[in-house]
Amino acid sequence: MSTVINLPSGSAARAVFDRVARHVPACAATSAETRIARIRRLMEVMLAARPRIYEAVKIERGLTPPDVDGELVMLKFEADHIAKNLADWMSDKPAPPSLMTLGKKCYLHYEAKGMVLVLPSWNAPYVIGFLPLLGAIAAGNAVIIKPSELAPQSSKVMADIVAEAFPNGEVVIVEGGVEAAQGLLECPFNHIFYIGNNTVGRIIMRAAAEHFASVTLEMGGKNPSIVDASADVEDAALKTAWGRMCNAGQACIAPDYVLVHESVAQRYTEALQREITAMYDPKGEGFAKNPEYPRVINARHFERIKGLIEDARGKGATLVMGGEYDATDRYIAPTIVTDVSDDMKIMQEEIFGPAIVIKPYRTREEVVDYIRRRDKPLAAYVFAKDRSAWEYFLANTTSGSMVLNHNVVQSGTNPYLPFGGVNHSGIGRLVGFNTFAECSNARTVFEEGPPVVDPRTMFPPLTDKYKKQLTQLLDGKPVPDGMVRVIDRVVRTVGLFKR
Ligand code: NAD
Repeated sequence: MSTVINLPSGSAARAVFDRVARHVPACAATSAETRIARIRRLMEVMLAARPRIYEAVKIERGLTPPDVDGELVMLKFEADHIAKNLADWMSDKPAPPSLMTLGKKCYLHYEAKGMVLVLPSWNAPYVIGFLPLLGAIAAGNAVIIKPSELAPQSSKVMADIVAEAFPNGEVVIVEGGVEAAQGLLECPFNHIFYIGNNTVGRIIMRAAAEHFASVTLEMGGKNPSIVDASADVEDAALKTAWGRMCNAGQACIAPDYVLVHESVAQRYTEALQREITAMYDPKGEGFAKNPEYPRVINARHFERIKGLIEDARGKGATLVMGGEYDATDRYIAPTIVTDVSDDMKIMQEEIFGPAIVIKPYRTREEVVDYIRRRDKPLAAYVFAKDRSAWEYFLANTTSGSMVLNHNVVQSGTNPYLPFGGVNHSGIGRLVGFNTFAECSNARTVFEEGPPVVDPRTMFPPLTDKYKKQLTQLLDGKPVPDGMVRVIDRVVRTVGLFKR
């Protein structure tokens, strides 16, 4: 079995589901070696498909090979990390002894959840689609991925990669649009990964509830970047120019708006303009002429981003730079918006495009209040030399991740740093062991030990001695863990002689 193209209805989805689900027991029983071999094969086929990947992302978003190589490197690092650690992750994890389980064998046993669905977005389709897949395979699951219809060339390339890497059909790509996703969502998956906006995230959660499927939701929102009065302003502008404008701002962790201290606001705005120009119009011929300046994914998103900018302009905002468009090419010039107010759509909706808002502030409390009044963001950034500013913002705000003196570098760069959001920006964590854990049932295992104590002492009719022991446990001070370990060892030793 290879790919299913343009899946139209729920029943067709169910047929695919049933075919893939037949592989569930065999996938669950695979060794770490087999899972690693599957992951390596996927990487091998994916890397061999690079020319097609480059061609696809050029058509879709005007990207150059180095733009997408960054995505592929993240996947390769993740695959290598899994290969190094999977045997350990899969091994049973003994639970430390407790007073209530003295002498028993207690441990966690990781088993596959079964059928995993991945519904990724289009803005970095390879890493967003395959990263959950790597974790799902590592945990021994069978998987269906439905790539985003907004990146149809990449969807086809991904389908061909998966068909070649998994000829037996334990991982399958279904191509299609929203209807295909809806058909799949009716199937009894055990776990669902969804990466996209939080309006659809709600639909996914509702569908998951029908089968009590667990979910990992990776969503977006408005990520604040704070520039403290103590910041290295030029450094902040340089990094933010890159963080916002790479992939034409179509990155979930890109800074969406900048809260900059009023004392450095003017300098920062000028520096940001300068850095964006140096990066994307170094020859001064205009951003539109630069073949390395990315494009917006489709006409709908083009109109949406343009609408946000024009709504702000219409309501009195200033465009310090940008505000130029070419619909035929889905080109939106890098845009800096200032003089904003909360009634502007650009201050209410995620921009997810090559525009950024700058909003001056006076006090740190004002910043915290502004961020707290909004949905909890996926990422937040602070530029400050004064450590107390960083500590204040870290302690008084919440986000999926927070970075000091940089941006957009916290994702996919360290396999021990989980990736995810909070409430509206996401549920669950990805990367490294976290993805493995999301795709696994951490099963509690309790093995009865040798009969050190007669089990009947705990069953009715209860003895006075037992009742007294219970009261002592209730009223007594907590027993130190070291002491519990010693008692456990004694009980086990006694148990050896009672076998
Ligand atoms: P999208 O439109 O490509 O949707 C993603 C998937 O959901 C696709 O497979 C699509 O077919 C499916 N889908 C769309 N509508 C559906 C519906 N009504 N019912 C069922 N399935 C449906 O993605 P998008 O929303 O345009 O992606 C952009 C958003 O994703 C932004 O908000 C961005 O911040 C967020 N994002 C988050 C992360 C993260 O890791 N946190 C990464 C990338 C993007």
